[in-house]
Amino acid sequence: MTRAIHWFRNDLRLRDNTALRDAAQADQVALLYVLDDRLLSRSGTRARHLVETLERLDADLPDPHRLIVRRGRPEEVVPAVLREARATQLCFNRDTTPFATARDERVRRAAEKLDVEVIARRDRVVFEADQVTKDDGSPYVVYTPYAKRWYRRIADEPMRPERAPRLPDPIPQLSSEKLPDPASLDPEGAAELPTAGSAAARRRLQSFLESDVGDYDELRDRPDRDGTSRLSPYLRFGAISIRECVYEARDAAAAESRLGKGARKWIDELVWRDFYAAILETHPRVARQSFREEYDRVRWRNDEKAFEAWCTGRTGYPIVDAGMRQLVATGWMHNRVRMIAASFLTKDLLTDWRWGERFWFEHLVDGDPASNNGGWQWAASTGTDPQPYFRIFNPTSQGTRWDPDGEYVRRWIPELRELRGADAHEPWKAPALAPDYPPPVVDHGEARTRALAAFERARGKS
Ligand SMILES: Cc1cc2nc3c(=O)[nH]c(=O)nc-3n(C[C@H](O)[C@H](O)[C@H](O)COP(=O)(O)OP(=O)(O)OC[C@H]3O[C@@H](n4cnc5c(N)ncnc54)[C@H](O)[C@@H]3O)c2cc1C
Repeated sequence: MTRAIHWFRNDLRLRDNTALRDAAQADQVALLYVLDDRLLSRSGTRARHLVETLERLDADLPDPHRLIVRRGRPEEVVPAVLREARATQLCFNRDTTPFATARDERVRRAAEKLDVEVIARRDRVVFEADQVTKDDGSPYVVYTPYAKRWYRRIADEPMRPERAPRLPDPIPQLSSEKLPDPASLDPEGAAELPTAGSAAARRRLQSFLESDVGDYDELRDRPDRDGTSRLSPYLRFGAISIRECVYEARDAAAAESRLGKGARKWIDELVWRDFYAAILETHPRVARQSFREEYDRVRWRNDEKAFEAWCTGRTGYPIVDAGMRQLVATGWMHNRVRMIAASFLTKDLLTDWRWGERFWFEHLVDGDPASNNGGWQWAASTGTDPQPYFRIFNPTSQGTRWDPDGEYVRRWIPELRELRGADAHEPWKAPALAPDYPPPVVDHGEARTRALAAFERARGKS
């Protein structure tokens, strides 16, 4: 008799789940989730969304299955469950971050000592690093050629999502711990998190593809409009499969040609997700160091007071502050504003990108080691992007360009409510109308000059 344990990690769904399909071939199966305090403690916001997602997953399981929840380190808990269950197989979907790779290797070794067959599948991204390479097999380090190869590769892939498998009988007598109360994990945390779970994720994908995707190309940079999919928290925990997203987007574009441009642009963003996962997999040192090593010589100012102003949304630059307040209040920030706020911290405040990366990782409900690191290194010009370090966003012109009526900044900064239209982006011109809002923490022009000099020094040019 074969007995499989499916170890859920960042694949919290039944539909189109590669390793779960394998586990379902066994005579009996148990569905395990290990709550690891090392991960829970990294972000209360994300821990809360995770536990809410696990509750939904448990409710989605067909009777008599239940999610088997255990708390502890997977390196100890998984082998213990394998022994208790007298399992013959351990199935899971691969995760290629440095933390997960080391952990999974330890679990694999322990399982093999117990004579358990380990089945680890590709699932989390469309293509892993070794599936999209240059002709000589080496990894791409620049997005555009990577994306070209990615599109060539996917042209032959149907990507049709699979239904949830029929599960065999559960392995009997495995006890489960209770899931913690989600609110207890995030006592003072984000007020409005998205509804968790696969059903909510699929509803969101459908509504995005039925309406907003057509304008995505035009509106995706506008934080005042709800033009993006907001699927990132679901992709983070695998409540929806990435293949399903690609398949449905291609299908929507094929059915209605006016959606084609937007859908294609949207798939480009999913390619960024694969790209950054591949960069972290092939260059794990970027988790701690700059991708471009010369920029580890930048002499950051790391002014704690300025950092505090940035964290609390009180830099005096409305678009930056609105983004940071949105982040803390909801666990999410619009992509354009992420770019502006991250540029501001690293260039205008000349603060080490790792400070910002860490703060966001604590707050983002979609906080993902690869995408967060890639985004931060992109903004700081220390990463893979061939654009040179002198791309420094002007927070005021970015604000007036992408939030032309000031709606977004007024939504998040009540102190600006008396300022009309785009005036909300320059409150220092009418301080009497926004008496409670702080003046700019730095002068952008001077800060720009200072950043350019610091980067040039790091490159050995002055
Ligand atoms: C400094 C910085 C940090 C970031 N940190 C994260 C993070 O921790 N987790 C995260 O998922 N995204 C991160 N992003 C990327 C991006 O901002 C979010 O994925 C996006 O805002 C999520 O909203 P959405 O689902 O509506 O995106 P959509 O525009 O609908 O895009 C669809 C999906 O594509 C992926 N995607 C979109 N843009 C990017 C990108 N630039 N890089 C990688 N994947 C992308 C996401 O999975 C997203 O859900 C970061 C960007 C920056 C500039």
